Amino acid sequence: MCLDSAFADRIFLDNTRVRVEFQKAMSRFFLQVYGCQMNQYEAGVVRDILERSGYTETSEEKNADVLLMLTCAVRSHAERRALGRLGTFRGLKDARRKTPDASSVIIGVLGCMSQNLRKNLAADHAADLIIGPDQYRRLPELIDKARETKVPQFALDQTEECYDDIIPGPSHPVRAFITVMRGCNNFCSYCIVPYTRGKERSKPLTRVLAEATALAGQGIKDITLLGQNVLAYHDQSNDFRELLEAVSEIPGIARIRFLTSHPKDLDEQVLSTIARIPKVCPALHLPIQSGSNRILKLMRRGYTREEYLAKIALAREYLPELNLTTDIMVGFPSETDSDFKDTLELVRTIGFDFAYMFRFSVRPGTQAVELGPKVSEAVAGQRLTRLIEVQNRITRERNSEMLNRTHELLIESPGPRQGMLGRTRTNRAVIVHSRLSIGQTVTCQVTRIQGWTPIAEVLGTEVPVPQ
Ligand code: SF4
Repeated sequence: MCLDSAFADRIFLDNTRVRVEFQKAMSRFFLQVYGCQMNQYEAGVVRDILERSGYTETSEEKNADVLLMLTCAVRSHAERRALGRLGTFRGLKDARRKTPDASSVIIGVLGCMSQNLRKNLAADHAADLIIGPDQYRRLPELIDKARETKVPQFALDQTEECYDDIIPGPSHPVRAFITVMRGCNNFCSYCIVPYTRGKERSKPLTRVLAEATALAGQGIKDITLLGQNVLAYHDQSNDFRELLEAVSEIPGIARIRFLTSHPKDLDEQVLSTIARIPKVCPALHLPIQSGSNRILKLMRRGYTREEYLAKIALAREYLPELNLTTDIMVGFPSETDSDFKDTLELVRTIGFDFAYMFRFSVRPGTQAVELGPKVSEAVAGQRLTRLIEVQNRITRERNSEMLNRTHELLIESPGPRQGMLGRTRTNRAVIVHSRLSIGQTVTCQVTRIQGWTPIAEVLGTEVPVPQ
């Protein structure tokens, strides 16, 4: 039976409580997600909270009664995109007002941008809900309140929230994320995260293990432990190394990855633990940001280029197969040609497998706002183009090193041209043209590189799960 909410209103006119419950059961939400893997994970938390309250998700925004976006504030570009999308949401809300089903649509902005822009989102962008990263549990209550009062609802308090009791359903058949810590205490001078996500805190180890066990029971084999700086994980006497050990004991989990690591917290003990546990994949995402010591100091990164180089040398000793990725920023205030040359030189010396490269984006409220002189957009753009050229060449070289070598591949999804897409332990996507099932682990040999993608022949299909 299909009822619309206006009909539901008539049936239960004199029983307000039941009516509200019924309306909720009929409510559909649409969720747009921006930003990093932590937001992808938190989208699962938001879905769980709403579905437990009787909401159902729709992929058609025009059918939704609640239009939500989970936002990112790390770069101004991400904010501009989200604000543009809010304009679309507003159009849908106005259109609904003109239909026979004139029930109001609720627009909610969740996550870092709400924490950052606050009242502007209601005043200038017609948002009904402005909810920070620690307040998602209040969503059902605040949706009701916004409907009843027609007044924007704010929930921006920062707490110790880790959503410990919520296990978001995986959105992939074999891979999943677990957020093991939230917030950050580092206050890098350009970064808004410590202001939007609050103080660093860790999910209790028992809860991480319960989550990983539940995911393994749903067929997940490859888990990525997430946090702003996972190396700072701490639950009573358990640190990041104990976390890796404990997760590796869960049957069914074959691969463990983690993201992001702060270079200042990477030490020999962590590297030896990664090297010792077969399930932990030899991959590190270690943001360098700049190759200039002067700029690193202004960024308040807490390491020098020499210290970073020494850690990479040690990491490659412990993990000869290491896949090393990074983040690099150009155009930081006062960056000179000479500073940029230092960055290029460091990039060539290290030979990252892949890099996320950005132009500096000023974030109001951070310390970098005070720094100068500013680097012009034109100069920053030229530097970024040059950096991308250099890194792309290196990435191609690193890819070609995969040729004629044997790799272990976990099959993840169908690939292009009737192929299957798998991932190596070093986190590289590879295409094979064989009849394989998702979740199967095979050995393969890379025979050619097409564009950026390695293509491989399957050698064997019986790869035991590491113990
Ligand atoms: S370590 Fe620095 S860049 Fe990373 S989230 Fe914390 S403050 Fe931001």
